[in-house]
Amino acid sequence: MLLKQSNKETIYRRISPVRTLARPDEWAIYMGLRVDGRPFSLEGREFVSQVIRDMSPEIVIPKAAQMSFTVTFITRTLHWIKERGWHHLYLLPMKTGAIPFVQARIDPTIDSNEFLREHFTNVDNRLHKQNVNGVSLYIRGTNINRELQEIPVDVEVWDERDRMVEDSLEDARHRMDGSKIKKLVILSTPTVPGHGVDSDDEWHSSDQHRWEIPCPRCNRYQTLDFEESVKLGDAVSECVLECKFCHRPIKDQERIAQNALGRWVSTNLNGIKRGYHINQFNSPVQTLNDILKGWFSGQKDTKKLKSFYNNSLGLPWVAYGDQITPEIIDKCRSKGHRLGGIPDGPVFIGVDIGTFIHVKASYLNRFGHKMAWQLHIFREWDQLDNFLSKLISFNCVIDAHPEKRNARDLALKYPGKVWLGFEEDRPATEEIAVYYPAKSRTEVGKVLIDRTMAFDQVISDYLGGRIVLPADARELGEYLERKDYNGFYYHLIQMVRTEEEDTKGRVVARWRKNKNPDHWHHTEMFETIATMRRPSLEVPVSIQEAFQKSAVMA
Ligand SMILES: [Zn+2]
Repeated sequence: MLLKQSNKETIYRRISPVRTLARPDEWAIYMGLRVDGRPFSLEGREFVSQVIRDMSPEIVIPKAAQMSFTVTFITRTLHWIKERGWHHLYLLPMKTGAIPFVQARIDPTIDSNEFLREHFTNVDNRLHKQNVNGVSLYIRGTNINRELQEIPVDVEVWDERDRMVEDSLEDARHRMDGSKIKKLVILSTPTVPGHGVDSDDEWHSSDQHRWEIPCPRCNRYQTLDFEESVKLGDAVSECVLECKFCHRPIKDQERIAQNALGRWVSTNLNGIKRGYHINQFNSPVQTLNDILKGWFSGQKDTKKLKSFYNNSLGLPWVAYGDQITPEIIDKCRSKGHRLGGIPDGPVFIGVDIGTFIHVKASYLNRFGHKMAWQLHIFREWDQLDNFLSKLISFNCVIDAHPEKRNARDLALKYPGKVWLGFEEDRPATEEIAVYYPAKSRTEVGKVLIDRTMAFDQVISDYLGGRIVLPADARELGEYLERKDYNGFYYHLIQMVRTEEEDTKGRVVARWRKNKNPDHWHHTEMFETIATMRRPSLEVPVSIQEAFQKSAVMA
């Protein structure tokens, strides 16, 4: 048997060495590899061919579940190790998942061909394999960072990127620093908009290839998608998938067969890396009924609806109210409202500290709605001090991180009016914010903020129209060249509310950050906290001086 396989290998090499090298799919078919218990085959999943042969330095694939991409990249990994001699890191979210992954998916694939089995020899453990030429395959989880150290590789595959430990990913990427090859594939079922595989610097900076098939009747090429291709009925069995152009129904068998004529088309010509997206409407194994069941059960269950979008459509999704969107902010714009003028009462101010100082100040109208009054981006603390010194009645909360000294100075200068805000996830209080006034002139006033509750309050205020912005609110904040809004909107839409299990298995809500700036969101939150305490009525120094002067004059 061994001899027979080796002969096959020799014959194959003699026939077409170039194709053996360039086409891992043909190699796998010829070698008779079995993946996940079945012979490797492209039938019905012809979209795999281009992806498995793609030599781009970075490929990002937001994908629906069960579209064969893991199998594809296990196959390519074995092929590249054997034929190209490139060291690989196959990265998974958790180490606990790595051993079952090797046992269930990698080992059986290697064992399915005797030549390949001879070619790979286990070294010290299951998570480090080497071939006869000493080329390594490491399988690692992102949760144990030290196990990502000192394993130089040429190629990395990140499988299920959205479930990975974010802080480990830069370290993982650095494992290719010493290589001239440097090739990275990022695979993931998307989770929420703007995060993980859906980040601005991943899918959104890719060339966004989408899979198109021709209609069996009119032959026009199209992607199959939920919005335009599915005609929903009252029940799963009454739904139809149809051509976007001639509206002829396309049956399950037809759409699978049409994959043989399919093609990848780039939909973002500005992309700087390669991207592929595909959903289950192109799956050779899922029926339309299988897929749409998720949509119907999702009508009563948000978790199932999220699963339908993520797993079946390969799209990020967030429940209404778990992320601020430009549309939600738009609804808070008021035609009659302008920034500036004389505030109608005390001013409430939120200040977030980054490279710059982001400041938002509002007053409350008679309904208690926050009327935006002024927004500033200051470079220097003096500018903030100068701004505060002109206000008569105000309450201001300043981010206590990452810089405390300047904020402390202001809190000492304006006692009872400027507070240092400390955000915490689940502090031991039941309240959204607890103010701790200074007990002496050398102490500063502090406010302890329940971060989750505070950001919940902000989105609830936006949804409830309790924040009022000027009509041109899309212009507010830092100028952004390629968006139809500026920094104010952009910062507000980054964070997303997720529910995660804590170490004790309790489900807890958390506002999750991504890599993009979110200063205005924090500014808004601190401003909201500021409205929760009436300002102390103290006559400001400037007015005292004015009184004194007029007294002298008199
Ligand atoms: Zn058609």
